[in-house]
Amino acid sequence: MHVDRDKCQGHNRCYALAPELFEIDEYGYSFEVNDGLVPDGLEEKARLAVANCPEYAISISEGGDDRASSSGQ
Ligand code: SF4
Repeated sequence: MHVDRDKCQGHNRCYALAPELFEIDEYGYSFEVNDGLVPDGLEEKARLAVANCPEYAISISEGGDDRASSSGQ
């Protein structure tokens, strides 16, 4: 998960929705904690934050390890 600092306008909506995943800097802009890694169980909150960011500043990339998901199906 990543916050685009150029787009973020500091509404803090993401932080209000998912304080486990975001932190607010001194200017009120948010950034991702934990290097953007979303812990198990918080994926839904991450998606909620993405959906509620008015600036579309938050993005999620799925799966740090693509190899596991590319086989089978
Ligand atoms: S909701 Fe979007 S624009 Fe608002 S603080 Fe979070 S990332 Fe920035």
